[in-house]
Amino acid sequence: MPPLTKGTLLLMEDQPSLEKAAQIINKGGLVAFPTETVYGLGAAATDEDAVAGIYKAKGRPADNPLIVHLSGPGQLENVARDITKKVYKLTDRFWPGPLSLVLPRSEKIPDLVSAGLPSVAVRMPDHRTALDFIRLSGVPIAAPSANRSGRPSPTTYRHVLEDLTGRIDAVIKSSPCKVGLESTVLDMTGEVPVILRPGGVSREELEEVMGCTVDVAGARGQFVRPLSPGMKYRHYSPRAKLFLITGPSASRFPVIKALTKHYRNLGFTVGYLNTSLKGSLNQGTDPACFAAALYKSLRRMDRQGVDIILAEEIDAAGIGLAVMNRLKKAAARTLRVQPGKPKA
Ligand code: AMP
Ligand code: MG
Repeated sequence: MPPLTKGTLLLMEDQPSLEKAAQIINKGGLVAFPTETVYGLGAAATDEDAVAGIYKAKGRPADNPLIVHLSGPGQLENVARDITKKVYKLTDRFWPGPLSLVLPRSEKIPDLVSAGLPSVAVRMPDHRTALDFIRLSGVPIAAPSANRSGRPSPTTYRHVLEDLTGRIDAVIKSSPCKVGLESTVLDMTGEVPVILRPGGVSREELEEVMGCTVDVAGARGQFVRPLSPGMKYRHYSPRAKLFLITGPSASRFPVIKALTKHYRNLGFTVGYLNTSLKGSLNQGTDPACFAAALYKSLRRMDRQGVDIILAEEIDAAGIGLAVMNRLKKAAARTLRVQPGKPKA
């Protein structure tokens, strides 16, 4: 019998365990499962009461819609309508993978999944266990990230237990998530595709496959429709205060040194989160490594009782755009360092 963690069942990735997970889903329960991006908190997308349970367990605002997870593009027509050739081009190239598509919603998907919007976000995760679990459940699975609302997303099953033990029925235990950041959310309901949330698939890749321009919501301050409701919340916050240091890299080091000294003198514990200095991430300059380690590092510093986290900006190209999006949302303050004259 798998161990119970204060009311939350810890399941393995073998067939009988995944069958058990599917049974829980079919009875209206909640199961956290691994994906390549972050751990998701799943319920049957067609069961309104089960979906309500997700919002309750996470403490998620009711106007922030969920992403529906599919075991293949064949399930698309059950959840969405008016699926265009461009959409199939994207699913051919990027599914399974970290790309969620916002499409007109089918009436089979209850209002609550989409927080009342006429659209629905869908994706097919690139994770063997996730796909087996969805297939065995026999229904599309509505799943936001498996964290308490406002906390950094979980990239290990331990993070899920940290936040949701006793609040959900089961967690499927797997290895840490490879991408480590949430999926790209792409709105395909208008004339021009719009990235509502940057993620594992970059704007450059999307433009190449569709052969058209892709907008990024909020870039250049333009109005974009329909805005992703989740974007208005300050997500991904560690308990510590995070200061994001931007500006020329050569001028950042003296500022980081000075801030560290200042806060240590005041009795605070200071942690680093950077790519160019030997710090707690220490992942070199590869943005994909930085992305994979980001949430884990934020949670570790919280556990260690760090009060102040200093983070440096990284190049916003490719997955760097998603990293910078999450860092800005996590930051209590952004300090822009001037060239030559280090000043915080
Ligand atoms: P999470 O599941 O925690 O990764 O959050 C899902 C993200 O997708 C949030 O930012 C939502 O606002 C966004 N999202 C989900 N469904 C839709 C939709 N139908 N239209 C726009 N954004 C959506
Ligand atoms: Mg989330």
